[in-house]
Amino acid sequence: MPYLVRENLFIGNIGDAAEVLQNGSSDITHILSMLSTASISIFSEWRSGLTIPTKEIKTHYVGASETEDDSASEDESTELSSSAMSPGKVLYSLEYAGKDLKVVRMAVPMRDMESENLLDHLDVCLNFIDESRKKGSVLVHCFAGVSRSATIITAYLMRSEHLSQEDALLSLRQSCEFVCPNDGFLDQLKMFEEMGFKVDRSCSIYKRFRLKVLGECYNRGERIDSSKLGADPGLPSETSSDAEVPRDSENSSRSAYRCKKCRRVVALQDNVVDHVPGEGEASFNWQKRKSGNPFNKSEEPECSSIFVEPLQWMTAVEEGALEGKLSCAHCDGRLGYFNWSGIQCSCGSWITPAFQLHKSRVDISTV
Ligand SMILES: [Zn+2]
Ligand SMILES: [Zn+2]
Repeated sequence: MPYLVRENLFIGNIGDAAEVLQNGSSDITHILSMLSTASISIFSEWRSGLTIPTKEIKTHYVGASETEDDSASEDESTELSSSAMSPGKVLYSLEYAGKDLKVVRMAVPMRDMESENLLDHLDVCLNFIDESRKKGSVLVHCFAGVSRSATIITAYLMRSEHLSQEDALLSLRQSCEFVCPNDGFLDQLKMFEEMGFKVDRSCSIYKRFRLKVLGECYNRGERIDSSKLGADPGLPSETSSDAEVPRDSENSSRSAYRCKKCRRVVALQDNVVDHVPGEGEASFNWQKRKSGNPFNKSEEPECSSIFVEPLQWMTAVEEGALEGKLSCAHCDGRLGYFNWSGIQCSCGSWITPAFQLHKSRVDISTV
């Protein structure tokens, strides 16, 4: 039996969902399936002989642009997330399903693995829960009803009730005591909390996460082709005829980094992945102590590089090497270095993976 978490909101396992789809339910009108595939065939794999009728409403692929019937709240999320997820992969599907096609089912393919990208699916899932609760009752389920579904409901409680990750999970455990999101999901829920209960794609927390996801793709041996790299800010983009106009009007986004030799734009402030200078590194302390004034030891080490997300002009990255030089696409001048296993900044911080531009090779300008 599904467990009631809030009014019109249930959590359950694949058996609970199968029961609703097969026999109908007086309560549940909507289902959010978090299983390894979006396909309804997973139910017949789970129990042979079980076939569930469906009628497609739509299937949304990673990297596809939104169509006019999508809710405005999804905004640009899928487009921007494409560099961290494989294009062509199903982001979610929506269908009528079950007895008399009475249930609306959203299916989001997600495995119960720590490395799985949860953040890029959150908006879609939480908005579906919100909408479904207005129209009826929703069952959020995964295979066992322990990790994936619990993660989504925890995020939902965090957003709707402004709870910390810990408090939301405690609250969920009062309805269903055995829920236990995996550690990777808990980390991502913490980022969700730090970003103010939204997935803020301009936030450095999100940018570091996306870089980590991409690094894991590389480590698994996936090909990193240009579709996984960020748009080249030095080329005219689809959304703007002038490549030097940044995509939003925030002041912080108005600066661009240019090749010192030829002035080509090589990165926008938006592409920069910030780090905390000197964080997590002790090896430089000895030198500082020896040379410096003992009363001045808190002096911040200056970073000699900036680190950016991998961008489409970095053709060396596409060749698949673990590390290599980054050269300007226009003048071929040396700009920096990349290394999937990380580079240490002059401040002592390790950045992994690292796409580094030497400050001495680029100029910062306001556009
Ligand atoms: Zn640094
Ligand atoms: Zn150049």
